[in-house]
Amino acid sequence: MSSEPNDEEYKHIETKVVHSGEPSPRILGSVSIPIFQSAMFETGTGGGAYHDIRYIRLNNTPNHIALHKKLASLEGGESALVTSSGMAAISTSILSVLRKGDHLLAQNCLYGGTHDFVTRNLEQFGISYDFIDANDPRTWEEKVKPNTKAIYVETMTNPLLEVADLKSVVQFAKSHNLVSIIDNTFASPMNFRPPEFGFDLSLHSATKYLNGHSDIVAGAIIGKADLVNKAKQLLDHLGGSLDPHACFLLHRGMKTLALRVRYQNESTLKIARYLSKHEFVTKVNYPGLDEHPQHRHATELFAGCGGVLSFELEDGKEVAELFLNSVTIPIVAPSLGGVETLITIPATTSHSGMSPQDRQKLGITDGLIRLSVGVENPEDIINDFEKAFARIREQVPMMKKIA
Ligand SMILES: *Cc1c(COP(=O)(O)O)cnc(C)c1O
Repeated sequence: MSSEPNDEEYKHIETKVVHSGEPSPRILGSVSIPIFQSAMFETGTGGGAYHDIRYIRLNNTPNHIALHKKLASLEGGESALVTSSGMAAISTSILSVLRKGDHLLAQNCLYGGTHDFVTRNLEQFGISYDFIDANDPRTWEEKVKPNTKAIYVETMTNPLLEVADLKSVVQFAKSHNLVSIIDNTFASPMNFRPPEFGFDLSLHSATKYLNGHSDIVAGAIIGKADLVNKAKQLLDHLGGSLDPHACFLLHRGMKTLALRVRYQNESTLKIARYLSKHEFVTKVNYPGLDEHPQHRHATELFAGCGGVLSFELEDGKEVAELFLNSVTIPIVAPSLGGVETLITIPATTSHSGMSPQDRQKLGITDGLIRLSVGVENPEDIINDFEKAFARIREQVPMMKKIA
């Protein structure tokens, strides 16, 4: 029989994803945590505080507790909380940090749901906001107000994979007494750990890399204990808790996070390099490429650049659609971070709600393709792309670069 586990002994993230937060002692010796599919738990007659009653909505059943410990350990945060979706983590965090009369600084290129929450819903809570260019710290000072309480950024933007000046964000927040919040979904704890870097709250759509298997929707809040606790108290009332069965699936998915993301980092760099040399591709957006404008910054901060890239084809929309109709391994579907490679055209899917002018301003052209690389062999994906390009060569004989 092995001795009692001690989380302090788990030095590396590969060990933490497997062992941190596991019940101790193991429940009836069970190697994999059982699913506690019970809405409520026996209290006895002693009574206690409302938030301490064990109840699924209060996110404090054994499946939640194990996940919270594991998530906090992965990013070096004091505390963590799972939520019913990434958006539940984002909206609850923002509303728990800001009150009526407060002001938020937010990065100008945000995940669509977050952008809409900020621009359409904050006003009804009496919270105002300004957008900032997260790569130009000199312009932030003029946007900060006496009532500014928080600064909100994303580790890498979607779909252009821009990397903000994250060091300056943390410094700026500290010097202005702001709560710093980052959406770390795209990096995952494998590639970047915001609490270790000085961020107050790190948010995830656990739907993506943390779960990794495209079969649940979930979210996570990791960071300072007092802030996570404030978010929990609000979540208890808003009701965005995670069901125990989804907790179990997330827990199981997370155990292979290190293997998946490391492989996806390598595969995506291979595919990015292949695409950047292809005659039909006019641009590849991936921070791992030397020519990416924030490449040096990204390699300094991140262990890897993740599994998402985007690229542009010459001649725009029709050719991009022909490409998507010609590939056989990538599935044409939204979302990212799973084991299957997924491919989309942001202008007609995730960003179709934006006006063409706004898309143009951000640099999201009609021919831009976003790829979320799964765990297939990258050589097979590259061969698949070769065949799709051959079809384009056949069907679009007027393409300029054809001799
Ligand atoms: C998907 C996503 C979200 C929203 O997460 P859900 O789990 O769909 O609610 C938020 N931020 C980023 C960066 C995402 O990719």
